[in-house]
Amino acid sequence: MTTVKEAIDKMIQANVVDTGCVSNLSRQIINQMNTLQTSILVNFESLPGLNIVPAPYLNFYLQAGAKETLRAALRQGMTQQPNLRMTVNSAYRTVAQQHILYRVFQQAPKLIPLAAKPGNSNHENGLAIDVANYNAWKPYLLANGWKWLGGNDPVHFFEDNGRTDVDDLGVKAFQTLWNRFNPNDLMTVDGKFGTQTAAKMDRCLITGFAIVTLFRFGDNGAVVTRIQQSLTNNGFSTPVTGGFDQKTKDAVIKFQLKRGLSADGDVGPMTLKALGIRL
Ligand SMILES: [Zn+2]
Repeated sequence: MTTVKEAIDKMIQANVVDTGCVSNLSRQIINQMNTLQTSILVNFESLPGLNIVPAPYLNFYLQAGAKETLRAALRQGMTQQPNLRMTVNSAYRTVAQQHILYRVFQQAPKLIPLAAKPGNSNHENGLAIDVANYNAWKPYLLANGWKWLGGNDPVHFFEDNGRTDVDDLGVKAFQTLWNRFNPNDLMTVDGKFGTQTAAKMDRCLITGFAIVTLFRFGDNGAVVTRIQQSLTNNGFSTPVTGGFDQKTKDAVIKFQLKRGLSADGDVGPMTLKALGIRL
């Protein structure tokens, strides 16, 4: 059970930075962002023309609009040079990963000479990629709305054509997750990464939060959709919306009564099992 702070201390001791150690936590944050704002980040791993080298620190996510202009750039590049493939070294960076970079920068600047404060890096907006073979791809990216700032950070491209900033949404996602799993140690969900949020991030386990096994009134997401589908299939019809509303709760209570379960309207492990849902 390693905390984020313990992992950072070890990195500084060993002179190695690894933001891949929080890959589970990062996946949870991305899922939570997509729950707070439906499909704000989309996976782009399967775009034709990419040379994918998977690594734990890599999150192949962009905002949907940026994925489309990247698709166009890849298509144009491959039309001009059929054997050309793009190697992406970095894409979406979660607030947990940025926190690690920033802490190392603060405590060991010789390891990382510069890092943005969490909530302020444009890799946290789902609008930036780092391209290993940037020279080959630069003309096609520039022709399709991507920008390049020059030689100081030559691998870095970004696409901010009228897109929303989502870095505060990433912070909010972390704060929401934290509160859900630490009901006795709540923090304000304001999307700002202040000292309070940083301290809680330090105390978080690098493996992330425990798997959710309780779904209740007010929850949203894919599992709620599956609960509603299963209720309907079992004869307890309820609209399939992905939002756990009063109608869903009523249907759950009826289902629980019928099956001899504790009829509280909350879907925990027993009710999930009875509904045939495995997480
Ligand atoms: Zn970059």
